[in-house]
Amino acid sequence: MPHPQVLPLFDSTGKPLTGAERDRARKRYWAIHSRDKYIAMRRREYRSHRDSILAKQKEARDKSPLMRERARLRAADWYKNNPERIAARHSKLPESKRIAARIRAKEWSRANPEKAAAHRKLIKARRKSRLQNVCPNPLEVLCFYTSEKASPTLHCFYCGTSLVGKPMHMDHIQPLVKSGMHTAANLAASCPKCNLTKNEHDLTDWFGNRPLFYEI
Ligand SMILES: [Zn+2]
Repeated sequence: MPHPQVLPLFDSTGKPLTGAERDRARKRYWAIHSRDKYIAMRRREYRSHRDSILAKQKEARDKSPLMRERARLRAADWYKNNPERIAARHSKLPESKRIAARIRAKEWSRANPEKAAAHRKLIKARRKSRLQNVCPNPLEVLCFYTSEKASPTLHCFYCGTSLVGKPMHMDHIQPLVKSGMHTAANLAASCPKCNLTKNEHDLTDWFGNRPLFYEI
């Protein structure tokens, strides 16, 4: 604890501080000047009373719109700055929770069509700029895409479903997020189901040892 002389005896209006107020000032002084010890103490406190601390915080947020807004901004900031930790967290979620999240997202899109459209546009733009970095020959990709689309015997690369007259997705065999390139050699026509379930998985992780419809 600091020497009492460095602590204020009066508040900003000149009124003498009460015993409890001086006590608070002393604690504040200690928190500022022994930062490491203070943080260690708060962590210990948090670990031993986590549930009651979280309940209290929630109660305070429920009462104050300002606090709620601040918490929302802090959380949004954290989400923006920690993409790897979020991905790690999501990958640990059980399937039931993932399905529930997907349903919630769909409901949100239906309730907020304009925001959802803006979000889709943003994702598309990001994808486009990412593609430009990994596409040495756009013309070759375009030719491949058009010839695949026009093929009278088009099948899903993975499961062999016929795609003639049906929606077709172009899948990156080696996903872009795992340093795959946007080239004809790394593209495969696939049914929406295969493309969407494969998502960003490696081919072997996702498909296992089942035989592919086409040989690579
Ligand atoms: Zn398929």
